[in-house]
Amino acid sequence: MDVKAIRADFPLLNQEVNGHPLVYLDSSATSQKPTQVIDAINQYYRLNNSNVHRGVHTIGTRATEQYEGARERVKQFIHAQYVEEVIFTRGTTTAINLVATSYGRANLTEGDEIVITQMEHHSNLIPWQQVAKATGATLKFIPLEDDGTVTLANVEKTITQATKIVAIAHVSNVLGTINPIKEIAEVAHRNGAIVVVDGAQGVPHMKVDVQALDCDFYAFSGHKMCAPTGIGVLYGKKVWLEQMEPIEFGGEMIDFVDLYDSTWKELPWKFEGGTPIISGAVGLAAAIDYLTVIGLDQIMTYEQQLTAYAIDQLEQIDGIDIYGPKKRAGLITFNLTDVHPHDTATVLDSEGIAVRAGHHCAQPLMKWLNVTATARASFYIYNTEDDVDRFVNGLKKAKEFFGDVF
Ligand code: PLP
Repeated sequence: MDVKAIRADFPLLNQEVNGHPLVYLDSSATSQKPTQVIDAINQYYRLNNSNVHRGVHTIGTRATEQYEGARERVKQFIHAQYVEEVIFTRGTTTAINLVATSYGRANLTEGDEIVITQMEHHSNLIPWQQVAKATGATLKFIPLEDDGTVTLANVEKTITQATKIVAIAHVSNVLGTINPIKEIAEVAHRNGAIVVVDGAQGVPHMKVDVQALDCDFYAFSGHKMCAPTGIGVLYGKKVWLEQMEPIEFGGEMIDFVDLYDSTWKELPWKFEGGTPIISGAVGLAAAIDYLTVIGLDQIMTYEQQLTAYAIDQLEQIDGIDIYGPKKRAGLITFNLTDVHPHDTATVLDSEGIAVRAGHHCAQPLMKWLNVTATARASFYIYNTEDDVDRFVNGLKKAKEFFGDVF
């Protein structure tokens, strides 16, 4: 991977923050955007902006072709079987809420189980809490090992014949754990349950083949993979999507409307009520092209190497807790002993280094870790060993600074 060339594609990285060259280590929250994506959106608005699926005019046709072309691009990228299995949403949260509300409420009843884990982001927890409350189903949690992994033995123990839905992150946004989705799907299917994957931290960083994983639904966000905010994807197996009712009603999603009743368009449009996120889809297609040229396998390997390089150095600092398993995705969640992570992040920021601090939208996981908050450094294609060195030195400064205070 030519990281120098990649960095040059990201204009935002080329700036100073608080008098230091920026080191951006918050890509798990949102990634930066390359010129190729910014230009694609710019060009769309300059040349092709129109509403889609409606007019017969040339500009409208171009916009529709770009929007539907983006769907085809997503289909290839995640290796879906049919293009109509790709629903554009606002992001992962909206995608999971669509499954929970539409599929969940129609298919769950008292006595049924929804199986998740304690490592879930709130977006893959609260929608299921709500569905459980509405239907009388119960939530069950696959226990985590001490290092924050899920074992197949525990998966087997937790999923039963009463389980109807298993909802799990592909990659934890806090621990970096990479969950064995294919194996979990096998256990779920054997018990008659479907599998919903929160892929927010999966798709941006690794090759995802939804058919090989055999998941029933897979949700992800464009903004974590070089695309703009406001666009995401729900992949769903056609067999389920066809049975499901829309949850948003209005323009674009209808076939025929009368005074007292209406019918819906076929897939995927019945789930895309209102004017869709056209420029977002154009940006997402450009992001997919960008990442594909680099290669998702290379991205994964590079991020893991960078993470290992960082952990080697962090482990030499006294008084640091690093959370999560050895084999992990490209992020490191940690705390300095007796230093609040917000203070750590503030000192790092004064050095031009952006990390995240807080509960990372995973309060139950913070409880499991027995902390109220943590700091997190997350890596992407544009980060370098030099970024890691700056980060480690910044942490040493934070430790010295607060060591003097306490
Ligand atoms: N799931 C995970 C694992 C995440 O990391 C995030 C975002 O941080 C989400 C879900 C929610 O994504 P979005 O806010 O784009 O809907």
